[in-house]
Amino acid sequence: MILPMSSDPPQFILLFLDGVGLGDRHPDNPLTNPDHTPFLSQLLGSPLVNDLGIYQPTLLAKPIDARLGVPGLPQSATGQTTLYTGINAAQFRGRHQSGFANGSLRQLIANHSLFKQVMALGGTVTLANLYSPAYFEAIAQRRIRYAVGTLVNLTAQLPFRMQSEYEQGQAISWDITGERARARGFTSPPITPGEAGRRLASLGACHTFTLFECFLPDYAGHQQQWPNAIAVLKRVDQFVESLVENLSPDVTLVITSDHGNLEDLTTKRHTLNPVPLIAIGPQAHRFDAAKDLTAIAPSIMQTLK
Ligand SMILES: [Zn+2]
Repeated sequence: MILPMSSDPPQFILLFLDGVGLGDRHPDNPLTNPDHTPFLSQLLGSPLVNDLGIYQPTLLAKPIDARLGVPGLPQSATGQTTLYTGINAAQFRGRHQSGFANGSLRQLIANHSLFKQVMALGGTVTLANLYSPAYFEAIAQRRIRYAVGTLVNLTAQLPFRMQSEYEQGQAISWDITGERARARGFTSPPITPGEAGRRLASLGACHTFTLFECFLPDYAGHQQQWPNAIAVLKRVDQFVESLVENLSPDVTLVITSDHGNLEDLTTKRHTLNPVPLIAIGPQAHRFDAAKDLTAIAPSIMQTLK
């Protein structure tokens, strides 16, 4: 793929996929079969496995470490905080912290998030995910706690995208199509992965930095069900295909994860595997030296300074 080079200010879309690691080529690894990710496998010339290594000016793909020098299985709260701040949150907490970010992690996000960093340079940022009143009611009733990405937006004092934005084509559900949101009382019809990709590409064209979080792969990994794992991979692949086809020339798409899970269906737990770092677009080469989750935020910030 040849993308036109441009001298306009760089822009980024960060597509966060929860729970996708790069494992060995193995029958228990659904990412081994290129038929499950036909677009990405063809683009990269390889399935999404741990020997991935592409270093071209506008296309980069490599494994990066998610263990962060801390014993135990990598978890979401510290992994995502590390991705979105550039600070090793697992080392900061002294352990891998699962689920939600509170206390000192929240402070880290409030002070150092990519949203805050980009805004400090005068850039614009947005969280593309759809939110619902039911989510914030559950928070208020302390039935759930804030996820890291939610805190990134909240602590930057930015509005959340709700059903009205969704109906205008300006929000995407965490499951890409919106089917899961419908199961929770959301009334808008589902959209195709292709439509979701176009939505994210168009939001990305309007902002310096756009974040979208998809949690499907981690759920599928915990479930350990092959049909669902394959369906999730195909949905993500179709979404990425549409996103790449509609990407503005100044936008670099970065795809990564917080920890492994889906690539090993022999266990419902997370894995110690590295995670993918895929960068597509004019700034892809800026991620050449990235070794672990701490490298994403500073690599983005270096291009914007
Ligand atoms: Zn998980």
